[in-house]
Amino acid sequence: MARYSDAKCKLCRREGVKLYLKGERCLTDNCAIERRPFPPGEQGRRGRKLTPYGQMLREKQKAKKIYGVLETQFEKYYRMASRMKGKTGENLLSILERRLDNVVYRLGFANSRSEARQMVRHGHFLVNGKKVNIPSFLIGSNDTITLSSKGKENIAIQEALEKANIKSRVPSWLEVDYEKIEGKVVSFPSREDIDIPVDENRIVELYSK
Ligand code: SF4
Repeated sequence: MARYSDAKCKLCRREGVKLYLKGERCLTDNCAIERRPFPPGEQGRRGRKLTPYGQMLREKQKAKKIYGVLETQFEKYYRMASRMKGKTGENLLSILERRLDNVVYRLGFANSRSEARQMVRHGHFLVNGKKVNIPSFLIGSNDTITLSSKGKENIAIQEALEKANIKSRVPSWLEVDYEKIEGKVVSFPSREDIDIPVDENRIVELYSK
């Protein structure tokens, strides 16, 4: 399946914000955007002025890169969000947050969304006791996420769990028991729960054109 192949840090530098694509490294001084806060390439240092359309497009690109979602699926999520009650932009972010790979990352079972995606594909997680190996699977309220027998032996998950215990970065819409290695969805995330640097209203404007 096609996926972004650009070096991850270049994606952040192109957008001009941290997209947190590389786990722990993103929190250190080695973060590329801390050291080179300008877009990559020859023109990078000169800066650029975006048109209103360009600004809308960039917000969509940021959201796609953060969650690792390609165009067709993103459009599908947008259509879903527009059919739901409430604000379409907030619904869209809530749907993206409910992807199983994102939930695994948010629970601290993986260091980044891309790592979580790979772990899910390899069948390391159970949702309500059943193996789910589809990263885009949308979790529901009260769903529980646990490790499969394969997942319990995975060293990368153990390492992520050690860090997660210390940092406790789990958002309030999720609960986690690190003794049992079990996560639970308490409610669906609202906009206040989602700490991503994206203006969802501009994405809605873009699709409304
Ligand atoms: Fe982006 Fe992380 Fe690379 Fe920093 S280290 S530029 S936040 S991917």
